[in-house]
Amino acid sequence: ATPTAIMVGTGLGARRGVLFKNATALETSARIDTVVMDKTGTLTKGEPEVTDVVVDGMAADEVLALAAAVERESEHPLAAAVARHAGTLGVAALTAAGFRNVPGHGASAQVAGRRVLVGNARLMTDEGIDLGTLGARRDELAGSGRTAVLVAVDGRAAGVIALADAPRETSAAAVAALHEAGVEVVMLSGDNEATARRIAGRLGTDTVIAEVLPGDKAAKITELQRAGKRVAMVGDGVNDAPALAQADLGIAIGAGTDVAIETADVVLMRSDPLDVPTALTIGRGTLRKMR
Ligand code: ADP
Ligand code: MG
Repeated sequence: ATPTAIMVGTGLGARRGVLFKNATALETSARIDTVVMDKTGTLTKGEPEVTDVVVDGMAADEVLALAAAVERESEHPLAAAVARHAGTLGVAALTAAGFRNVPGHGASAQVAGRRVLVGNARLMTDEGIDLGTLGARRDELAGSGRTAVLVAVDGRAAGVIALADAPRETSAAAVAALHEAGVEVVMLSGDNEATARRIAGRLGTDTVIAEVLPGDKAAKITELQRAGKRVAMVGDGVNDAPALAQADLGIAIGAGTDVAIETADVVLMRSDPLDVPTALTIGRGTLRKMR
């Protein structure tokens, strides 16, 4: 593109809070045919709230107190929500020892002399824990779009803590605008398949890639590129940085983590998903002017 077209495109973007870091970012925007969007914190607000606590064989307050003791040691957004909920209900504040984080799965610790595991079904499977009657409750909650966090105490499934994370107001409109522009939209998530599918269904994304471990997001981008797609990745988390770097165009949500913002080629200052189609439209306009 001519320096003038680049200047115009960059200026148009800046006025809408769409920051193109360089001329290449603007030019690449014009050629994107596939947009991969992270779920938590990108399509959703990234502010999960506990909605249900389902237990088996233990009191809800006890399960919550044990889980919260572990989660207070974790930096995961789900962990913060569990700890906050326990605080609001005023359950006993217990102390955890020997905390261990299991990325993409959950966490564990000793609390009040008991071994407590908090995380997803994969964590429970890896630890040889049978969900028993809680399995069906978990499936139900996940099917309704909630994230189900499982709690096991001394090797036995004790509870399911369900969390809801509302979609951003403009997520569905952003997906529709991308489709209007002939762009395919893929949702990428570390969350459970059923949860991710339900939310994807509500937002209208074409494809869902769920239960992706933090280290595997970039490889999913590579697979799409090998299939001939020109891929933009939109993300907010530390987890997303390698995928943002791998994509033809990395787009960071402005409210996201520093590492996502540093790695991306484009930053959406308003954290509005509708600015994703805006970025591609500005890119296309810039390219047209150079012809
Ligand atoms: P995402 O935040 O996109 O869901 P992560 O890779 O961070 O992806 O986590 C994947 C899944 O692992 C989460 O959806 C959750 O089920 C589980 N998980 C990870 N850390 C925790 C934690 N501290 N407490 C509860 N669940 C967790
Ligand atoms: Mg995220």
